[in-house]
Amino acid sequence: MSAELEDINEECGVFGVWGHSDAARLTYFGLHALQHRGQEGAGIVSNDHGQLHGYRGLGLLTKVFSNEQVMERLTGNCAIGHVRYATAGSGSVDNIQPFLFRFHDGDVALAHNGNLTNCTSLRNSLEDNGAIFHSNSDTEILMHLIRRSNKPTFMEGLKEALRTVHGGFAYLLLTQDALIGATDPNGFRPLSLGRMQNGAYVLASETCALDIVSAEFIRDIEPGEIIVINDEGYRIEHYTDHVQHAVCSMEFIYFARPDSNIYGINVHSARKRMGIRLAKESPVDADMVIGVPNSSLSAAAGFAEATGIPNEMGLIKNQYVARTFIQPTQELREQGVRMKLSAVRGVVAGKRVIVIDDSIVRGTTSKRIVQLLREAGAKEVHMRISSPPLKYPCFYGIDIQTTKELIAAKHSVEEIREYINADSLAFLSLDGLVESIGLHKPAPYGGLCVAYFNGDYPTALDDYRDEFLASLTPQEREHLQEVKQNSKYSHESLI
Ligand code: SF4
Repeated sequence: MSAELEDINEECGVFGVWGHSDAARLTYFGLHALQHRGQEGAGIVSNDHGQLHGYRGLGLLTKVFSNEQVMERLTGNCAIGHVRYATAGSGSVDNIQPFLFRFHDGDVALAHNGNLTNCTSLRNSLEDNGAIFHSNSDTEILMHLIRRSNKPTFMEGLKEALRTVHGGFAYLLLTQDALIGATDPNGFRPLSLGRMQNGAYVLASETCALDIVSAEFIRDIEPGEIIVINDEGYRIEHYTDHVQHAVCSMEFIYFARPDSNIYGINVHSARKRMGIRLAKESPVDADMVIGVPNSSLSAAAGFAEATGIPNEMGLIKNQYVARTFIQPTQELREQGVRMKLSAVRGVVAGKRVIVIDDSIVRGTTSKRIVQLLREAGAKEVHMRISSPPLKYPCFYGIDIQTTKELIAAKHSVEEIREYINADSLAFLSLDGLVESIGLHKPAPYGGLCVAYFNGDYPTALDDYRDEFLASLTPQEREHLQEVKQNSKYSHESLI
């Protein structure tokens, strides 16, 4: 947490290993480090001399693999695994990955982190041509495209399929003789390669999963790359030349673990720099700085360091509370906040408090946090947000796909301040965010996707375009037209 205490969610984490006698168990450990990326389901497929064995289930990894006998059946020295975040209504085991496909010429397992923007049209056209889908996830599409390809080899078919799907993706595939990773042409979703002391190779959504199995980081998988790992080692291939970096900035702000590095940038350090920059942009006189645990603690440390105001623990996270699912009523949602957070009365009573949070999504949780602090006796509550206002939906792998869920899409900063009842409210600027992360790639926004904040989408929105535009007011459409006119990207117009 936070991103307003989990109102936005990542869609999945992947992990794979090639060349270790305990591959499935290592995958379990890797997935454990990635559990924050998805808690609704988990699965592992192993490869034992070309025989693929899989197991998957709903719930946390520890629940799915609580039975030792399950793990013992996942034999072999290669494996891939997946932890999944599912949007409401799709929490069926059919959607839990990796998917295991049994073909006459060899089994293949597939796991995916991200979201395809042309999923609906591809799926419809595949179904019209006889394809039968077993899940409502967009992941199966890739395998249908590979199998229907007329290319002479699996790799050629895979490359063609990767050129056909659009959006954000990091795929892992396990065939009988290789572990394959592939990233989308913008590199929205991270994927890193590591190597263990015994020579085994590891692929993971975040480097924290490399650390947990003591694998040494080798490189990030760059936009548009395919990595093929087999008994000979690894090689990199490309399926397209139309690449640019548009790495999801929310990975740095909220999703990724602070001990992970993305393209060489440590996530904790980036968050701390955001806090330092925020303090310079929007200072305020107060007695203490407190961060909303856990993802805002780094930014709070930066804010405190830059201002000299003491960094205190004014909010405590309940470590044992289960993830709250979308609550049916406002009352239950508010109760959910109380279950997750408590204000420390002995610290905040009578004090002027600066609260650092990483973002405001709906605003309801921020309002509750301010209320908790006031009830605990805080004299003033100043809210500082270590990212710009979230105004636009994401179509590349985050579960916010309409503007109506985002308070900043419809309200000014002053209106939000009034709603959450803070004494003052300020957000980090877009330039401040880009410079604090400091990716410095030769691409718009230094190689970061910032569409959540400014509507400048790095790719065409394909199937989402019409519905998205229809959801906007005439003024919002007009504004988006202006965004498009000033877009730093060269793809076709949104409007
Ligand atoms: S729109 Fe936002 S959440 Fe989605 S990829 Fe871009 S920065 Fe990340």
